[in-house]
Amino acid sequence: MSNKRIYLSLSQESGFEQKYIQKAFKSNWITSGGPNVDEFENELQDYFGKKKFIAALNSGTSAIHIALILLGVKDGDEVICQTMTFSASANPILYQNAIPLFIDSESETWNICPENLEIAIKDRIKKGKKPKAIIAVHLYGTPYKVDEVHAIADQYGIPIIEDSAEAFGSTYKGKKCGKFGDFGIISFNGNKIITTSSGGALIVNSKEEKNKAIFYATQSKEKAVHYQHSELGYNYRMSNICAGIGLGQLKILEHNILSRRNNHLFYKEAFKGINDVELFDNLNEDFFSNYWLNTILLKTKEQRENFRIAFEEANIESRPLWKPMHLQPLFKRYPYYGNNIAERLFERGLCLPSGSNLKQQDKIRIKEVIFNFFN
Ligand SMILES: *Cc1c(COP(=O)(O)O)cnc(C)c1O
Repeated sequence: MSNKRIYLSLSQESGFEQKYIQKAFKSNWITSGGPNVDEFENELQDYFGKKKFIAALNSGTSAIHIALILLGVKDGDEVICQTMTFSASANPILYQNAIPLFIDSESETWNICPENLEIAIKDRIKKGKKPKAIIAVHLYGTPYKVDEVHAIADQYGIPIIEDSAEAFGSTYKGKKCGKFGDFGIISFNGNKIITTSSGGALIVNSKEEKNKAIFYATQSKEKAVHYQHSELGYNYRMSNICAGIGLGQLKILEHNILSRRNNHLFYKEAFKGINDVELFDNLNEDFFSNYWLNTILLKTKEQRENFRIAFEEANIESRPLWKPMHLQPLFKRYPYYGNNIAERLFERGLCLPSGSNLKQQDKIRIKEVIFNFFN
């Protein structure tokens, strides 16, 4: 059997991308914005429904940054962020010279803990400053506790930026992730469920917000025959070539979701009867995950590391869970509210290969590592 490396999550072409890329070349729209971008936004708008508007950008990170700008987050403002996430959720807070406040996970979805969220909000208000925004993340495709988290945000009047970068195609109580927040973001990075090679989208609630987002993403050019600027701008717009890739990729979104959910069933079967392993599963039928990545918890940190090494020796990629942001050198001086649940998940957790194109032979090799390790 071939020993080709098996990766956590790889992109896969649909076969439809070239048509749109060629169209871009033929019409000489080899730049940012353009017909493919408009069409890509329209298709995403259809996907998310009439009440939503989409701005296609060059990354999920820029989408979070623009959301913070639209919310007026400035120097010294405080912004709440889930601690267990990829750094891209939190970095834009620092781009605005704002202060991140990190919130622990709860142990059922591993996402932002509603109790600690409320404790943090109350504490900051007591200290004299109400947080400007909450960044909540649907980690690995699993929705956070939307009802609980949004009830708290509403009670204190704090807007939510819904980081749905990993959860395109996931739903909570039948409603699509990305639609719950005051702002939603998705990512089309190469490792996500569909890709534009690099790209992202900001999901907003009005045409005005969409226009404002595109304004900031295209260097804040004001209406004038010359270039006129009163506000700081960014070069964040999606390119017409990337949008072409996205249009081709959208055609296999449902297929990819199905493949990844089948990977989950494969792991369920593979770990059956192995008591040392807890495969992460959705809490109940309210939570529908795209299973962007399958994750497990082992008994101890040592066992986790040994299991990771066993995969590595078979040339199979696996990776610890996201290291909580409040433990990262860059962020450790900022406030943290929690009970170290994310820390313990980080110690014992492992992400497993979950690509939409995971082949039968790959699964056999993965199963072999599992079998040899636990027997
Ligand atoms: C990938 C990712 C992002 C950022 O997306 P990019 O398109 O890579 O900038 C943000 N948040 C989370 C949780 C992610 O996994």
